[in-house]
Amino acid sequence: MISDNQPADGAQKLLPGDETAPGTKQAAEGICPACAGTGRLGRQTCPDCGGTGTITVIVGDA
Ligand SMILES: [Zn+2]
Repeated sequence: MISDNQPADGAQKLLPGDETAPGTKQAAEGICPACAGTGRLGRQTCPDCGGTGTITVIVGDA
């Protein structure tokens, strides 16, 4: 589903757990495997997803 009123900020921050830049074709939100979607690792914010609990993954289409 493509929204036509997304903010045009070209400075989307890429998190370590992201496989691709958000907004690209084949990109989808996925549960962060490092923290299992909790956004936290122990008492720290999960570095892979930045505490969001989700990462941007590539959903390859053949
Ligand atoms: Zn995480």
